[in-house]
Amino acid sequence: MPGGVNSPVRSFGAVGGDPIFFSRARGSVLYDVDGNEYIDYVASWGPMILGHAHPEVLEAVHAALNQSTSFGAPTEVEVEIASLITEMAPKVEKVRMVNSGTEACMSAIRLARGYTQRNKIIKFKGCYHGHADSFLIQAGSGASTLGVPDSPGVTEGTAKDTLIADFNSINDVKNLVSSFGGEVAAIILEPVAGNMGCIPPRDGFLKELRAICDESEILLIFDEVMTGFRLAPGGAQQVYGIEPDLVSFGKIIGGGMPVGAYGGRQEIMQYVSPDGPVYQAGTLSGNPVAMTCGLKTLGILQSNPEIYQKLEDKGSWLENELTSLFNDHAFPIRINRVGSMMSLHFTEQEVMDYDSAASASKSHFNTFFHGCLNGGVYLPPSPFESWFLSHSLTEDQLSKTVEVIKQVLRKM
Ligand code: PMP
Repeated sequence: MPGGVNSPVRSFGAVGGDPIFFSRARGSVLYDVDGNEYIDYVASWGPMILGHAHPEVLEAVHAALNQSTSFGAPTEVEVEIASLITEMAPKVEKVRMVNSGTEACMSAIRLARGYTQRNKIIKFKGCYHGHADSFLIQAGSGASTLGVPDSPGVTEGTAKDTLIADFNSINDVKNLVSSFGGEVAAIILEPVAGNMGCIPPRDGFLKELRAICDESEILLIFDEVMTGFRLAPGGAQQVYGIEPDLVSFGKIIGGGMPVGAYGGRQEIMQYVSPDGPVYQAGTLSGNPVAMTCGLKTLGILQSNPEIYQKLEDKGSWLENELTSLFNDHAFPIRINRVGSMMSLHFTEQEVMDYDSAASASKSHFNTFFHGCLNGGVYLPPSPFESWFLSHSLTEDQLSKTVEVIKQVLRKM
């Protein structure tokens, strides 16, 4: 396997050292193959919002497995999860299931291009929308970690149709739209960025994007692969009260199975085959075991909305505790947090776009990361990734985390 892994960030390339091999997990505790325990702030990069091996989710998955692992034909569970998604996400009237966040975003922009009959898209520097060619232009996540913002293999022809703006810069977007307005099919963004650490949108930023899109007949695509079902049952679109035209999902929607989805306004989704001319398909799309895992996870979230308040409480407690530790510390450390997504940057600057995130000290982060790991706290192995808090985190685990971080900072 290249780098010994099946996805680059797992290799610890950003922080040095060898990746941990895990064998099992329960709630927010991970166990590695050597028997060590860690408190989990990665949550499989977001999906495990309920914690690992949730008994109700496992029971439903076991029952689905007994029926067969795949049919490649319609099943009831696909109808059930589609209904639930359209209930939970405010502006998703029709949805198509796929197998990953990459597929979801890639299909959403194909649809936007087909619907508008325009070719260009606007994306934001440091936002990551998966590894489809059109998105590997100044992408975040593993791409920024490895310092290859433009991957070899992406053709110039593809790259020229991806226009780049700074996250949180409405002026950049206005300039691009005034130069290329009639050619732009869609503006795609993470409404809360999670692939350059966690970066919230500035007040009014999403609203202004909505207005620009309306004025220039550009589709607004929210990539809610991280934020969907995490920040609220209806994701960031619900939290910020903005109606995107299309939305992409991943992570929580599959409860830890390989699932993505895209959806949106009826008249746009009507363009997807077989109803419409924009082709998109998948042998294993809507896989019954994966759908069951996602359906159970989403169902638990929908019927227990207090989970979101509890996640907010855990996040704000951790933020407050860490802020007071950082105030006593010699290096400037910034915390950004939105609900159960957060990140730290070793910098004095406000972190509100890719450049401010990239200016933070990587060597301090690396020392911090390995100190936490040795203390039994598993953080994302890169400063460009968001931490994900899970409902299963206990008060004891949160307190232990603060204690470990206190010790780590003392030695830095
Ligand atoms: N969009 C966002 C916002 C993501 O964070 C990711 C993955 N981290 C993707 C798309 C791609 O999803 P996947 O890795 O499932 O292809």
